[in-house]
Amino acid sequence: MAGETSVSTETKTTCPYCGVGCGVIARIDDAGVVSVKGDPDHPANFGRLCSKGSALAETIDLDGRVLYPQIGGQRASWDEALDLVASRFSETIAQHGPDSVAFYISGQLLTEDYYVANKLMKGFVGSANIDTNSRLCMSSSVAGHRRAFGADTVPGVYEDIELADLVILTGSNLAWCHPVIYQRLAAAKAARPGMKVVVIDPRRTMTADIADLHLAIRPDGDVALFMGLLAHLAGTAAIDRNYVDTHTNGFEEAFTAASALGIAELMELTGLPSMQLRQFFRLFEQTERVVTCYSQGVNQSSCGTDKVNAIINCHLATGRIGRAGMGPFSLTGQPNAMGGREVGGLAHMLAAHMTIENPDDRDRVQRFWRSPDIARKPGLKAVDMFRAVADGRIKALWIMATNPAVSMPDADTVAAAIAACPFVVVSDVLQETDTTKYAHILLPSLGWGEKDGTVTNSERRISRQRAFLNHPGEAKADWWQMAEVGRRMGFEDAFSFPSAADIFAEHAALSAFENGGSRDFDIGAYAETSTPVYDAMTPFQWPQPEHTTAQVTRFFGDGGFFHADGKARFVAVSVPTSGRTSADFPFTLNTGRIRDQWHTMTRTGKSARLSAHIAEPFAEIHPGDAMEIGVASAALVEIESPYGKAVVRALVTDRQARGSLFVPMHWNDQFAAKARIDAVVAPITDPFSGQPASKNVAIAARPLQVASYGFAVSAAKPQGLDTAYWALAKAEGGWRLELAFDAAPENWTQWCRTHLGIPGHIEPLGYADAQSGDLRLAFFDGDRLLAAFFLARQPVGVARNWAIEQLAVQHTEMAKRFAVVAGRPDAGRIDPGATVCSCFSVGVNQIVAAVHGGCHSVEAVGRELNAGTNCGSCRAEIRGIIDGCLAAAAE
Ligand code: SF4
Repeated sequence: MAGETSVSTETKTTCPYCGVGCGVIARIDDAGVVSVKGDPDHPANFGRLCSKGSALAETIDLDGRVLYPQIGGQRASWDEALDLVASRFSETIAQHGPDSVAFYISGQLLTEDYYVANKLMKGFVGSANIDTNSRLCMSSSVAGHRRAFGADTVPGVYEDIELADLVILTGSNLAWCHPVIYQRLAAAKAARPGMKVVVIDPRRTMTADIADLHLAIRPDGDVALFMGLLAHLAGTAAIDRNYVDTHTNGFEEAFTAASALGIAELMELTGLPSMQLRQFFRLFEQTERVVTCYSQGVNQSSCGTDKVNAIINCHLATGRIGRAGMGPFSLTGQPNAMGGREVGGLAHMLAAHMTIENPDDRDRVQRFWRSPDIARKPGLKAVDMFRAVADGRIKALWIMATNPAVSMPDADTVAAAIAACPFVVVSDVLQETDTTKYAHILLPSLGWGEKDGTVTNSERRISRQRAFLNHPGEAKADWWQMAEVGRRMGFEDAFSFPSAADIFAEHAALSAFENGGSRDFDIGAYAETSTPVYDAMTPFQWPQPEHTTAQVTRFFGDGGFFHADGKARFVAVSVPTSGRTSADFPFTLNTGRIRDQWHTMTRTGKSARLSAHIAEPFAEIHPGDAMEIGVASAALVEIESPYGKAVVRALVTDRQARGSLFVPMHWNDQFAAKARIDAVVAPITDPFSGQPASKNVAIAARPLQVASYGFAVSAAKPQGLDTAYWALAKAEGGWRLELAFDAAPENWTQWCRTHLGIPGHIEPLGYADAQSGDLRLAFFDGDRLLAAFFLARQPVGVARNWAIEQLAVQHTEMAKRFAVVAGRPDAGRIDPGATVCSCFSVGVNQIVAAVHGGCHSVEAVGRELNAGTNCGSCRAEIRGIIDGCLAAAAE
């Protein structure tokens, strides 16, 4: 729907964050206020939401939105902007050939957007230079699936995770990255305590708190671990000889490769003691119903594809695949990574799971599209694409719904390449991101709640995203933008889509075109989808060929693979040859997600509630390493690789293994001085998938020496920050700001006036101690606190959440104002501490007090404080706090 949307009071749609794909009911009340809740009828979540999904309504304001097309930073009409995009792309292609242009798109796009982008580039431009940020997320799974199964097929369904007797989570911090699947798993384990959970992760994450066995594996030790498992299984009755003989090829080669590793080598490569290895092997051997879930810790690796195949080998060997409670299970990161795979959004795929290398597939798709040309070779994968931008091979680039200046490895070089590209188009919802600043043409896109289309989640379930908000300003759907450019490039007939429903119907028809069961992706039942049918569509799993009805679908329980002989392939994988660290870069960096932020924070950064969980970039570092390099807890640490630097807060914890630091991927130049951690990540990729290795990066780490630390709360958004370190976060009633200074400015009051927006006539209430270096300044406008600023030679010890609350307090009494200057809660008032439960804003100190008051279970804490009783994303943290308190009390 490209025009105004009708506003209804309740709309069923889908969460736009992770690959779980939860159903959401968005409600608009009479006052126009939006609220969201989980959809009890959606088969992915049955009414649950995590903290991010629960806070969706807080992220849909128009603050910072781009509302009209811009050329060179100046407002333009859609016709002017689209004509210019079409003419520049056409001229570039005419002068330099089809491979001189590229699209870099996103798993945030809806399937309909993806379909049009892919059709335009591969079918009409005639190049395959279209890749997606899903390359950074799960392309190793795609490559592993295609090697083993002959197609990019996820065999199982979420229910299998609940039905399994053993769930292995490898490279997956499920509790924070796929929280609703974690909740489903935790509930299943609570109902069936005999169920076992094994977590394989170098870090002891929150997910490990429900594990019966945590294997703190060395970075990239997973290939060796699953090779060792295959070799172990081969000597046991767990091998399903009938399945192997009937439905697979290559078992002997894979077994020979796997059995070359002795136990000593396995211990060395995995970093695990033999007892743990044997315990894990026996658990797998003795459990028929076993699901192995894997995510970014497997995929984001220079041996990611081999990791995927090492896992799949074990499931093929035991025939534990495609049956209830069994199978390898790739959990995708983004909401529509799977939809992008289905339309061929990756540079090496075609459309509807067909491949560019296959001439029959090319011919089939070209005939279906009636296209003048079709890409004949795979295009450039993301890292190579930006290399081609950097060296001038790509001269026109269209970036949609993603922020590569932050999220690509070697991000500084990528940002410089985009800046130097002769013609850059960016379609986004936000005016200011680290990438939009390089746009020659900026196009306003519709955001979540405004756009219509479909997404596919990790279990192959296609759901509708529905609009329930009016289109802001002149924003338009991404598919509309690309279709208009396609028409203006001379392809009128192929891109005259009246609506998203028509695109979906064409996509479905292509999936069924000359299929007959030869390809896994077939949704022919939807090939005639009309707008009313599309509007009423309920979630369904593929495949759903013509004349079938929706049902739970699994693949490969009885074979039926998609290689030409119908059999699966074992892959004889090999272990990575060497580590990456050196004397100059002795640590490994592991990057990843935190619970309450999403990607580069362009949406979740708008929510004060979500920002309260973790408000600044940090590095988890083991106490032994911290001591060795002289980094104190809460001090600042500088992280450096040959590619770039970042500065973040040190979080000293024994959850982190020695020799490795963990830093979240989210922070960018809008929220911190220098925390784009992907600027540090080397552009090393997996040879099969092209996926960057974002979890095993050689780095140096050292303390950042600063003259003083600061902390401020401010009603106005801080501006013009240029200190040695700063990190900004939205807070209730204003902003919170962490700071560090190389040197003192001439006048601290003036510094506050300039950067915290304090009017010149407001004088501060202050306190200074020259000897200790402490300084506190509070600026009041009548009874209202405008800003409070705290400075110290050590990290500032003021209670953050208490200080933020002061922005909303009426400071009628002088005592209250002095309490702000003192940086201490009034007598008798508890500082809630760092937020643990975002839904009910419950802090760690409140939970500790409840535990000391007799609440010794997560449920008891929930009864006392409500914490953990809504979305449940914080239950693992609450359990950890309880365990910590009880352990301390027992000492
Ligand atoms: Fe959204 Fe959370 Fe569900 Fe993921 S688990 S889809 S982020 S509500």
